[in-house]
Amino acid sequence: MDTDIIVIGASPAGLMAARNACEKGSSVLLLEKKEEIGYPPHPANSFFKGMLDKCGEKADPSYVVHYLKGMKIISPSGRIVEVEAPGYAIDKTAFDRFYAKKIERTGVDLREGVKVQTIHREGENFTVNTSAGAFKSKLVIISDGINSKMASLLGLKTMKHPEDIAWGIELDIRSAGLGKPKMFEYYVGNHAPGWKTTYAPRGGDNAAIGAYVRRCGTDAGPYLNAWVENFKKLKGLEELEIVRKLSGGDPIVTIPEDYINDGIMVAGGAAGQSGIGYAMRAGQICGDVAADAVKKRDVSKSVLQEYQRIWEKEFKAEHYLGRIGLETLRKMTDREIDEMVKVFEKEDLSFIHGSSVEQAMQVFAFMLKKKPSAILKCRAFLRNL
Ligand SMILES: Cc1cc2nc3c(=O)[nH]c(=O)nc-3n(C[C@H](O)[C@H](O)[C@H](O)COP(=O)(O)OP(=O)(O)OC[C@H]3O[C@@H](n4cnc5c(N)ncnc54)[C@H](O)[C@@H]3O)c2cc1C
Repeated sequence: MDTDIIVIGASPAGLMAARNACEKGSSVLLLEKKEEIGYPPHPANSFFKGMLDKCGEKADPSYVVHYLKGMKIISPSGRIVEVEAPGYAIDKTAFDRFYAKKIERTGVDLREGVKVQTIHREGENFTVNTSAGAFKSKLVIISDGINSKMASLLGLKTMKHPEDIAWGIELDIRSAGLGKPKMFEYYVGNHAPGWKTTYAPRGGDNAAIGAYVRRCGTDAGPYLNAWVENFKKLKGLEELEIVRKLSGGDPIVTIPEDYINDGIMVAGGAAGQSGIGYAMRAGQICGDVAADAVKKRDVSKSVLQEYQRIWEKEFKAEHYLGRIGLETLRKMTDREIDEMVKVFEKEDLSFIHGSSVEQAMQVFAFMLKKKPSAILKCRAFLRNL
């Protein structure tokens, strides 16, 4: 055996899985196809502190480019709801490298420029064939992202509702002072069916704007182009320097399904777990459970399912509530969105706290008190079920 565990993909999920498994005593080989960790970067460029807290991690100044206070959710007619939620605009390449360096210190054998091609089970062990030869292990953790080839090669259908993957494009842009504000801006409505367009200040003159759509094909380009023109008008900009364009799929509204088998665990976007923080937490759970299974010399599905049990305890309700919320949004007319946003406009929402279920109940109770008829707008969820 070359190693106890092979992790495929130095993604947020893969880096955490490798670190946790190694810290618990397993030997770990982490394979990443990029020649250099974090480059070319993934388009993700920000996260909220709350997400990082869930992983027990602290943001590091080496990758934070701008500190944000929260977000504004803006309706089609320009009504604004402000939500306090500290967050960070990040340099994703620096973020990946920060964690890669950290995990190498724990003893993970990280190999860059190694592309996994196939995985074969031979009895109780796996042979992972790569561009740098074959490696053998008892257990394989797949964290190769949303377009995961490896999980599907092994016959796993890792997510429910893959048709609901959001396809997005992020543009890094520059214009005088554009990076200075302290709030993310999310614009919802039918100009971006199924989700949003965004403005994320990145400090100084730097910002990112993005468009994310669902069920409109995999190219968000036409929506982004329209957003660029609209954004220029909104911010009174004559010209906008476009520095970089990155795109991809985000499983925000999918639900993790079949992501564990004998000797196999899938984590992060590959398992329909969306977001950097959520992928990191999934990786941590995965790494802990994997190392315990290796110690017990039992990597059967029934043992590895502890990962699913913990994940579901922490996130299942949140995933389902998120899906219901974004599906309702996708089906609402612009007018309905405006009326819904009006209920929360200029309100102090700092009372909302606790678990996702508690937060949903608090929002529901608030609507019931302030404008019960607004709850009827949520019927949009039932359209075309
Ligand atoms: C446009 C866009 C913007 C987003 N913005 C944000 C954001 O701002 N904040 C946020 O929290 N989330 C954001 N997301 C979602 C978030 O990026 C993902 O949920 C998160 O990156 C998931 O990470 P991951 O661990 O699953 O894998 P990924 O980050 O996709 O990494 C997969 C890794 O596996 C490697 N790999 C793939 N195949 C192989 C192979 N065969 N062999 C070896 N290595 C391989 C890849 O090179 C890559 O390094 C965004 C998504 C998109 C598409």
